[in-house]
Amino acid sequence: MHSLSDLHLKVFQYGFNYSQDGPGNRLVFHLQGCNMRCPWCANPESFTMQGALMIDPDYLFDNLCPHGAIKDKKRDPKICETCIDFACIQEENRNKGITWSCKSYSIDEIVKIANSVKSSFYDGGGVTFSGGEATMQYKALKQTMISLKNLDINLALETNGTSPKLSDLFNLIDHLIIDYKIPFATKHKKILHYDNIQLKENLVLAIKQHPDVLIRTPLIHKVNDSIDDLNEFIKFYKSIGATTQDTLKFEFLEYHDYGKNKWEYLGLEYLMPDNSEVSKQTVDMFINGFRKAGLNVVFT
Ligand code: SF4
Repeated sequence: MHSLSDLHLKVFQYGFNYSQDGPGNRLVFHLQGCNMRCPWCANPESFTMQGALMIDPDYLFDNLCPHGAIKDKKRDPKICETCIDFACIQEENRNKGITWSCKSYSIDEIVKIANSVKSSFYDGGGVTFSGGEATMQYKALKQTMISLKNLDINLALETNGTSPKLSDLFNLIDHLIIDYKIPFATKHKKILHYDNIQLKENLVLAIKQHPDVLIRTPLIHKVNDSIDDLNEFIKFYKSIGATTQDTLKFEFLEYHDYGKNKWEYLGLEYLMPDNSEVSKQTVDMFINGFRKAGLNVVFT
């Protein structure tokens, strides 16, 4: 059994961002690991719990690998799969061309980092935990949140909403941001490789129990941008009383392929078609449809 001081968080990226990850200027920790496999993900290096090799082709030289996995600025992931020494990322060989996606931090280290920049949390800012899916590291996440709350630091969580223990964190979270991507169960499972049953239950709980909830939906052509998708979203929100909640907010994010290179550098295939962006008319259709139904659409 681990003591609390043994708990660590695996972080693949952290830094400041203004307003898009909760209000104000926020220090955002992106936590390693995700249970969904969204094919448009901008952070595919977060998929596995253990992390992954990340490539920067500009700095990738053949001599970084003693096993012949790198040739002409390309890595052969099949050779890496059987690697026993990971010589390329050992201290003596460290190079920008090939790195491990995440680093482990103790709770104390995370708290120290956040506390040292507390004066930068202006305009209602604070710390946001994002992903990957932050709740995949539930125990360490909860304990870190408790420690940060003890320092009176404002906390936001960005989540895909699938953790069965999400509601246990509600009293620690000032701003809860949940993604709800695909309203049809079968399509959700087929495209994201995870069902939306717990997610829908958590949306109900969040709407009933949490005072500050933002539900985000990325709009993606031929994934969730049809009139049927729009109607199904609204039908669900009406059925759970979301249309009568003034404090509940909704936001649409438009598809982009900013993460495409990362997929290739990880040795993964990016399968999103080139025409996955949504038109302005479609975005307007969703905004107007939601607003007509009484749902409070915002832009962060
Ligand atoms: S993981 Fe192993 S095989 Fe792959 S590049 Fe690094 S040293 Fe070479």
